[in-house]
Amino acid sequence: MTTSVVLGVSACLLGAHVRYDGMDKYNRAVADIIGRFARFVPICPEVGCGLTVPREPMELVGEPESPRLVICGSGQDMTELLLVYCRRAVDELARERISGFIFKERSPSCALTAAPVATGSPVKSLTAGLFAREVVRRFPALPVVEAEHLSDDRVREDFMERARSYIIT
Ligand code: SF4
Repeated sequence: MTTSVVLGVSACLLGAHVRYDGMDKYNRAVADIIGRFARFVPICPEVGCGLTVPREPMELVGEPESPRLVICGSGQDMTELLLVYCRRAVDELARERISGFIFKERSPSCALTAAPVATGSPVKSLTAGLFAREVVRRFPALPVVEAEHLSDDRVREDFMERARSYIIT
């Protein structure tokens, strides 16, 4: 019998209409394939911290290693609002004893590696989103992946194998 693992996931990947534009980012490899073998703990940090759907889009600005999250155009700084929620969310993920997390790529909150950050230079740098940073900081050995890679069978199977082997500390 296949072991069911508990995985955190960016909620929009499962079809939740939580994006800034009111849409979702349903991902078949996540919802339909991995979903057969996992129990998901869906989280949308932007909705979780109290922002509405729809909402103004946001972007990362400043230093790639410690970026701020601001509303596009107005520049209103939402960093602290989001981080306060993120700290609560990682506590919840620990209680759920997750064995992995699947992130939505390119999001200023959820991207694992490559969210654009405006540094003032004409060329945008890439960095991790604020929520993904908190998850990785809290669980440094946790298997993590961005959803766009999971349509590749080998990447998906490797991630699931690592998740099944992971013991939360
Ligand atoms: S990428 Fe993250 S913050 Fe953006 S809608 Fe999806 S779950 Fe919410």
